Amino acid sequence: IERTFSIIKPNAVAKNAIGAIYSRFEAAGFKIIAAKMLHLSREQAEGFYAEHKERPFFNDLVTFMTSGPIVVQVLEGENAVLRHRDLMGATNPANALAGTLRADYADSFTANAVHGSDAVESAAREIAYFFADDEIC
Ligand code: ATP
Ligand code: MG
Repeated sequence: IERTFSIIKPNAVAKNAIGAIYSRFEAAGFKIIAAKMLHLSREQAEGFYAEHKERPFFNDLVTFMTSGPIVVQVLEGENAVLRHRDLMGATNPANALAGTLRADYADSFTANAVHGSDAVESAAREIAYFFADDEIC
């Protein structure tokens, strides 16, 4: 059994899609084992996306991620990292397959509705960035 880290990004929260996205997680067989809403500071967003800090889109990404509340969660299931990436769809929503979360809820490449860890190692790091051990059930 594997864990992955997920974010419902500000554009998806703003369009009242939290419940719909949680339903998709549960229908796909994930257990939601930790969850909370927060509004990131610039410092928190820059720290979370530190691997991208030299990329041309970094400033827009941080501005977007701090533009409103987000919901963060830990999802547990078989092969959770890859299955969650499949459920999200391609990073660029123009390439996201029909039926994926980004096809349904993204507004742009930056405002692409959801985040998911890209490997088991990054999942562990990202979970620890947002959750204390006693916040995971
Ligand atoms: P995430 O990490 O959010 O799950 P990802 O792993 O599919 O997405 P990354 O390459 O890690 O994609 O990029 C992180 C985020 O930065 C993307 O989700 C997107 O919001 C933004 N981003 C990435 N590439 C671009 C780009 N070329 N133009 C604009 N925004 C981008
Ligand atoms: Mg990524």
